[in-house]
Amino acid sequence: MIPLDLVSVDALESLANNAQQHTQSGQLPTYIPALGQANPDGFSVHLLTITGQTIQVGDRPLPFALMSVMKPFILLYALEQVGAESVLRSVGIQPSDHAYNSLAQLEADRGFPRNPMINSGAIALCSRLPGATPHERCHRLCQWLNDQAQTHLTLDETILASVRDRPNEQNQAIARYLDVTDHLATSAAEALDVYEQLCCLSGTVSDLAQLGLLLVAGAIAPRHRQLVTALMMTCGLYQYSGRFAVEVGLPAKSGVSGAVLALVPRQGAIACYSPPLDAIGNSAASIWFLRQLAAQADLNVFG
Ligand code: GLU
Repeated sequence: MIPLDLVSVDALESLANNAQQHTQSGQLPTYIPALGQANPDGFSVHLLTITGQTIQVGDRPLPFALMSVMKPFILLYALEQVGAESVLRSVGIQPSDHAYNSLAQLEADRGFPRNPMINSGAIALCSRLPGATPHERCHRLCQWLNDQAQTHLTLDETILASVRDRPNEQNQAIARYLDVTDHLATSAAEALDVYEQLCCLSGTVSDLAQLGLLLVAGAIAPRHRQLVTALMMTCGLYQYSGRFAVEVGLPAKSGVSGAVLALVPRQGAIACYSPPLDAIGNSAASIWFLRQLAAQADLNVFG
């Protein structure tokens, strides 16, 4: 493994230029209408190392909603607030080969969410976050992340309005099923409200890289770091997770907005944003970029 510090600006710039062409192989999501308005040619990357090396390439970074890239941080916050024993009573650690919003998977598991990187697991954890109201739960998590990771995350009200405008029946059914099988600590509506707000926290690639650094080198319990990072490796990229682990060998998490965060354990984090998604739902250009970079810089954690 080559130290991440030695990756040059030139190498990243050249990869970013090529990655931009791969935006064309993806499509913008439309089920959240505001996400369909994103720039289909956009591509930006921020690399940050624990020694302070910072490289930004691609387009001028604009804020985007984190969507499912929040899931590792919902898990981390829950772990840090209530501890691993309690968290692992509410959610499992097994990968799923169903879609991230599969009700069938949850039914097969009798309401016990398979892992925290899919919607059922994240919604179950959202019901257990500290705070009296959904707004307060979201606000406290946002504040905690901004303090711990020196980020500037804010709630994107436009995206949240767009999410609320078109109620997501799949997520509603998941929340209801969690509720009737006694896997929520609040009402289904409240758990879903927290989940939707947290998906709409927004930041730039620089913020996302800072969040990554929190997982790599932040003041968090080592067991929590191991748990979150391992689950990113096994469950972070939807049904592509296993293949990415074998072929690229980096823990990563993607979201439907086109964000992908990859971690290089003990070294740093690479945050990518490019809205068009491939058939599985990962940012097409970001995945291409990470595959190339990991191969060129020999970043695979398995040597
Ligand atoms: N809020 C989105 C949903 O539940 C997040 C999905 C994602 O980014 O994977 O549909």
